[in-house]
Amino acid sequence: MRQVQVLVDCIGIDRLLTYRVPDELTIKVGDILTVPLGERYVGAIAINFDDSFDSLRLEYELKNVYAIVNTGLFPPDYWQVLNLTANYYRTSLIQTVKAALPPNLLDQSSYRIRVNHEQKGDSKLGTAAQIVWNFIQEHQKPLTRRYIYQKLPKQAASGLRSLMSLGYISTYLEPPHRPQPKFENIVVLIESDPEKITSRQKEILFTLQQAGGELTQPELIAKAKTTIPSLKNLAQKGLIVITSRECLRLGGKTHFVESDRPKNLTADQAHALASIQSEFNQSVTILLHGVTGSGKTEVYLQAIAPILEMGKSALVLVPEIGLTPQLTDRFRARFGDRKVNLYHSKLSDGERFDTWRQMLDGSSQILIGTRSAVFAPLHNLGIIILDEEHDSSFKQDQPQPCYHARTVAEWRSQLSECPLVLGSATPSSDVLYAVSTDQDVKYLTLPERIGNKQMPKIKVVDMREELQSANWSIFSRELQAAIAEMQAQKKQGILFIHRRGYSTFVSCRSCGYVMNCPRCDVSLSYHQESKDHEMLRCHYCNYAESKSKACPSCGSPYFKHFGSGTQKVEQELAKLFPDLKIMRFDSDTTRNKDQHRHLLEKFQAGGADLLVGTQMLTKGIDIPQVTLVGVVSADGLLNFSDYRAGERAFQILTQVAGRAGRGAEIGEVIIQTYTPEHPVIQAVQNYNGDAFMRSELEARTELNYPPIGQMALIRLNSENSDLVQSIAIALSEHLRTQTKLWDVLGAAPATITKVNNRFRWQILLKFHPQNLIHIPTLDELKEWINSVFPTNSSDVRLAIDIDPLTIL
Ligand code: ADP
Ligand code: ZN
Ligand code: ZN
Repeated sequence: MRQVQVLVDCIGIDRLLTYRVPDELTIKVGDILTVPLGERYVGAIAINFDDSFDSLRLEYELKNVYAIVNTGLFPPDYWQVLNLTANYYRTSLIQTVKAALPPNLLDQSSYRIRVNHEQKGDSKLGTAAQIVWNFIQEHQKPLTRRYIYQKLPKQAASGLRSLMSLGYISTYLEPPHRPQPKFENIVVLIESDPEKITSRQKEILFTLQQAGGELTQPELIAKAKTTIPSLKNLAQKGLIVITSRECLRLGGKTHFVESDRPKNLTADQAHALASIQSEFNQSVTILLHGVTGSGKTEVYLQAIAPILEMGKSALVLVPEIGLTPQLTDRFRARFGDRKVNLYHSKLSDGERFDTWRQMLDGSSQILIGTRSAVFAPLHNLGIIILDEEHDSSFKQDQPQPCYHARTVAEWRSQLSECPLVLGSATPSSDVLYAVSTDQDVKYLTLPERIGNKQMPKIKVVDMREELQSANWSIFSRELQAAIAEMQAQKKQGILFIHRRGYSTFVSCRSCGYVMNCPRCDVSLSYHQESKDHEMLRCHYCNYAESKSKACPSCGSPYFKHFGSGTQKVEQELAKLFPDLKIMRFDSDTTRNKDQHRHLLEKFQAGGADLLVGTQMLTKGIDIPQVTLVGVVSADGLLNFSDYRAGERAFQILTQVAGRAGRGAEIGEVIIQTYTPEHPVIQAVQNYNGDAFMRSELEARTELNYPPIGQMALIRLNSENSDLVQSIAIALSEHLRTQTKLWDVLGAAPATITKVNNRFRWQILLKFHPQNLIHIPTLDELKEWINSVFPTNSSDVRLAIDIDPLTIL
């Protein structure tokens, strides 16, 4: 009798469970199964076979595997990547598998509760039943039993039992929404010119013959204007065969692109390409540092071509597919649709499922995808390219594991023995640090724009002077003049606004002074704790002081909490420039698939004068006629309560500036700020990122911040603010007294203290990278909380984020 060890999809069970394999099932490692667990059936993955397992010595009987759901979803050495990820990110293997797989594959049937409306008697309900009943009534749709248990852990069991026996409710089993392969009928011609058939039937066979002897059934019915019974009739005569064949749903290729040919490379490009090619067949990380518009993408394209010729595949990771239609189009234009597949979250579940499965046959291809595509099951990988390496969307915030695609890509490059190329105009501190210390990271540079185009000229406007000159507008006189000029010359521009809601710092409008934490070198955050009690707090160490009315540095009364949102900017623009056509480009206007493309195409066709938007404007927009780029306020970027604020601000401002002057004319960039002397502003203005990043790294060395030291962020949240506070503080004390392997900062309330009515606290661990293996796993943290707060630990949600990028 065979036994299989499986990983079950059940919170809290991370060890392997053993099941018997019934004779009629042939199970392989990696198959997705359904297995019984307690009263339920759950999803599971076959991990290995253990035939030596002595079931006779067990006190209970092993249960049988119930069914195989999907088979062969992983290439052979794939588990190593998942194990590395689970370990490093201190997350269970099953949660890691779920993050890697296409969505919903492990979904199981769930019990749902239905209200029996005709049964509403007047029976007096017990307390628990009443609470559950009210809860069910508040929701208009059938709830799962699991959800009720989660939300009402104390009342669910007895309440549901009592409501059921009174006939108020009943349960039913809802099947899972797992993606399934899609099949279609194919009609194949067997005999084209038989005797004794009608002329109508001849026509059908002729249509089929014209189409090469094979068509899908719906196509044939449409083309030959026939019906299913007529086709069945022909099949009975043996003249055609109707078979079912799987049709793959491969998304994102509806839009047509012209094909193109490789360009003659510039000397710098040629050198970069040759260096990359000399590393084929080895695991090495290469940083391609090229200014915006320097031709990095062309280098990727030409590096990939020989990989495909070798019959291998290429993985191309990009920040957000929707934001980079121009990039995916260039790959499709160069290599054709058949060789290029896309994988990202805007595809349907079916499309992701099919795109995943077609990779498993090992056919040579290019897969372009976002963060989660780093888990794509490509075997024979020949190269991995991670474009815009500095972009924070490569980091997963939630759910666990909070992985960084760059880190996972490094492991894949090692396991596949292929190069990993990181491209950026503004490389991250992490990669620059690796270059400066690690012999394995190769550095390549493209220092100039293609065609000797100049970088745009960057002007910095001091908003303190505007205030002194009694200009109260959010637009400086210079930016107003530049917009007017742009409009007069019928050119186009981009206006960048910092995302709202995150600027919680307090600064002086007269002198630019910003309140910082004396211990952590990050800006303090503003909290209105009651009507006339304004506090400033550090979200790393919980240092606090009350806010003074006047600026501590110059005494000015203009000492305020900062922030100006999109709406205000739009209103003011409309007032100053009534004829200016404005188009908004942010997450509200670009929610749907392809909306980015449509908006950009519309803008490019002259549909607006000014594109106004947030962070999204920094990515992959290459519009030649944009000559003006304005930054309404750089201060919101500079004064994040976060040690990476400076680095991020430099990257965003440089990338936004890089949108200007990509065409024939030189671009102009205007940055408004209250602190023009800030090193970030200086570095952006003078295109002096290298020196800036060196001094950043020096400053971080002093405080042992990453990438020199390492960090882990433990995030806790709950609807109960007292509870989450006491658990966070208790946990931080426990972690502090437990060992000297790490420094504990906090517990402190998060910068954004409340989201969706849940109060957020956090604990920051700082440690030497070699101690990562000692950091507790998520399950260990949960266990500790459970043991200390046994009654209400389930009201607090917990996450652990290794190498957090934002500490909000
Ligand atoms: P990056 O990815 O560094 O921003 P791109 O690859 O998008 O730069 O190149 C910028 C522009 O220059 C694109 O329009 C591209 O087609 C063009 N280009 C790139 N390399 C060459 C080349 N060798 N000769 C001519 N044009 C090129
Ligand atoms: Zn001041
Ligand atoms: Zn602090």
